[in-house]
Amino acid sequence: MPRQPPRVLISGASVAGPTAAYWLSRHGYAVTVVERMPLDRVRTSGHAVDLFGPAVDVADWMGVLPAVTDRRTRTETLSFQRDGGRGVDVQLHDMVAGISGKHVEIMRGELASILYEATRSDVEYVFEDSIQSIREQPDAVAVTFERAPADRFDLVIGADGLHSVVRHAVFGPEDQFRRFLGGYLAFAAIPNYLDLRGRMVVWNAPGRAALIYPVHGTTAARAGFLFRRSEELPLDHRDADGQKRLLRHLYGRDGGEVPRLLAETDAADDFYFDSISQIVMDRWTRGRVTLVGDAGYSPGPAVGGGTSIAMIGAYVLAQELARAGREYQAGLRAYEDHMHDVATRARGIGPSIMSTLIPRTRLQVRLIPELIRLVTRLPPSVQRRVVQMQATPARALESVHLIGPGAE
Ligand SMILES: Cc1cc2nc3c(=O)[nH]c(=O)nc-3n(C[C@H](O)[C@H](O)[C@H](O)COP(=O)(O)OP(=O)(O)OC[C@H]3O[C@@H](n4cnc5c(N)ncnc54)[C@H](O)[C@@H]3O)c2cc1C
Repeated sequence: MPRQPPRVLISGASVAGPTAAYWLSRHGYAVTVVERMPLDRVRTSGHAVDLFGPAVDVADWMGVLPAVTDRRTRTETLSFQRDGGRGVDVQLHDMVAGISGKHVEIMRGELASILYEATRSDVEYVFEDSIQSIREQPDAVAVTFERAPADRFDLVIGADGLHSVVRHAVFGPEDQFRRFLGGYLAFAAIPNYLDLRGRMVVWNAPGRAALIYPVHGTTAARAGFLFRRSEELPLDHRDADGQKRLLRHLYGRDGGEVPRLLAETDAADDFYFDSISQIVMDRWTRGRVTLVGDAGYSPGPAVGGGTSIAMIGAYVLAQELARAGREYQAGLRAYEDHMHDVATRARGIGPSIMSTLIPRTRLQVRLIPELIRLVTRLPPSVQRRVVQMQATPARALESVHLIGPGAE
């Protein structure tokens, strides 16, 4: 009798999950993906994310790069506004040219949607469900779900983000792995009431920033709030009203469009609030269970190229498992070894990105936009040298050398 294909369960259908699903199904695995959100929320929710260098290659090898490029954000200009002062415009294309030769910015929901479409015919997707428990047995992993019947799999992969349930079930509470980087961020889906086209507008004040950018091809925009905090806030993560109250308190006296952004955010249903934190784990595999993307090695939201690392990690995981055949443990170990260095480097950049993202002092509020603009006006070769002295996500990815699928 022919041997059954190995069965793998992936938790999470955003970036890392469908990417791993794509490559594992190509390597002959029978893949099931379970996602807590309904499909239409996966497609529409989220913020702008970046694919740099090797992550662009992975998208290319999957055949989705034309769709990704077509649905990119097209945000061209970053406009820093100042109360009573002259604003500063930075051309993002010039800024990115100095950072990485290959880069695409896309809304996370658009990317997830493209990855879902690329996998849906070969992969079984179960939406609006979640893993409830995971129990390792000698020859399989026994899993129970909130809704679906219990089942057994050869491997389980947690691609379920910063607050992964797989990590919690197998490695224990999140606190022991989460490193707070000294800030918070909130994002809300709001109408593009300024009718912005290709422009992100930012208001900075010492210790906080507010911003708005349009979602290309729609009438929607995203309002964002990022602020510093030396200590973690005792906030319940489900208390959206309390979080919105806190934003009103922190930004209540700011000018420009900030009052309107607060009002629009207050009315928004699609609202996200979280600490800017990283996941720090030395090993992220136990037995037949492993983690990929933010679940295992998030460098922090908005500060560290997490989307690129999620795509690269998913590709490497599938590649190493395929190479190891039924020797799963060897494949998982090789995956961890391969990703260890890039995960460590990526974690190193969050703290330094924080200082440009959220200026601390009045002087920094004034100087940082001017400095960014200055750098973008240098010739690309000089710019690249200046940027190479800084910690950037693209730089953290320089150590990654992927072997394309055709070159195996
Ligand atoms: C506000 C914000 C701004 C960001 N900006 C950038 C940026 O500019 N550039 C960049 O590269 N990255 C950015 N990031 C980070 C980026 O979003 C992540 O690094 C990337 O999405 C990681 O992909 P992932 O697939 O590992 O996890 P995620 O995208 O977090 O996906 C996890 C998936 O698992 C699902 N899930 C969660 N719990 C369960 C469960 N119990 N059962 C089943 N499914 C579950 C979630 O619904 C989600 O679909 C930002 C993040 C945030 C929050």
